[in-house]
Amino acid sequence: MSILIDGKATSQAKREALTQEVAAFREETGCQPALAVVMVGDNPASAVYVRNKHTACESVGMYTETLHLPEQTTEQELLALVEQLNQDARFHGILVQLPLPKHINETKVLDAISPDKDVDAFHPYNVGALVTGRERFLPCTPAGIMELLRFYGISVKGKNCVVIGRSNIVGKPMAMLLLAQDGTVSICHSKTNNLRQITQQADILVAAVGRPRFVTADMVKEGAVVIDVGINRLDDGKLCGDVDFDTVAPKAYAITPVPGGVGPMTITMLLYNTLTAAKLAVSGK
Ligand code: NAD
Repeated sequence: MSILIDGKATSQAKREALTQEVAAFREETGCQPALAVVMVGDNPASAVYVRNKHTACESVGMYTETLHLPEQTTEQELLALVEQLNQDARFHGILVQLPLPKHINETKVLDAISPDKDVDAFHPYNVGALVTGRERFLPCTPAGIMELLRFYGISVKGKNCVVIGRSNIVGKPMAMLLLAQDGTVSICHSKTNNLRQITQQADILVAAVGRPRFVTADMVKEGAVVIDVGINRLDDGKLCGDVDFDTVAPKAYAITPVPGGVGPMTITMLLYNTLTAAKLAVSGK
């Protein structure tokens, strides 16, 4: 019987600890960590994510405001708002919810966020800091996965780690964090040859592909730890991961479910980054 890695319970435990930390920080400095969330347009999935972030911030004692702009907002208007938030000392963290409408260049907007307020850790400055081991903010989804591994006592040191997916948001930073913990890391992607032969070597397999049930039992080594990042909406409205859970779980030492695995940890790590941003602001570093 494999271990079910419970992201909900882990996230709950971490948020309780964070609530204490935020209270102590406020007591000590008089500063309430604050996050500005910018959303453009009316993407229903984004609206859910933004609402969840808002509730999560408040639940740990942080201040948050959601700035909701209309779909027709121009790139220039959005850049002007980001600059205004960069200068606004009331906010320690800024998050621009993706995706943005097609007429807005996402990279340009993300690059405009001050690296000191970049709680998603997407800015090239923070990506460079991560790669060179000098990170202040950790990319939320991969950092949440590392927390799950730690929480369940799963060591990365010396393990064969295979990440499927090379996105800037998940795949690449995931590989960096595993490497930083002394994993031997391979990154696979849509042009990888012999994917199955590579994944079969994985002691820790992370799937961040965005294809329902992409990872099947024949791709997984007996006793592997399987982390499913995928969030795919099926025709019947149900959510499903990138891993074929029913056939893979019996082979795995431990596995994350979807929903209730990686997902809940992502927002928790965003909260940690917001506290870090407030600490940076207070210390002036
Ligand atoms: P993406 O589309 O940017 O990247 C997908 C990656 O999969 C690409 O690098 C691509 O090369 C690779 N890929 C595609 N087809 C492949 C194939 N046949 N073989 C091997 N590799 C292949 O997606 P993303 O932003 O990295 O997200 C991946 C999944 O994770 C999505 O389902 C997304 O919804 C989910 N996600 C979840 C969270 C969370 O908090 N749980 C956060 C971010 C993303």
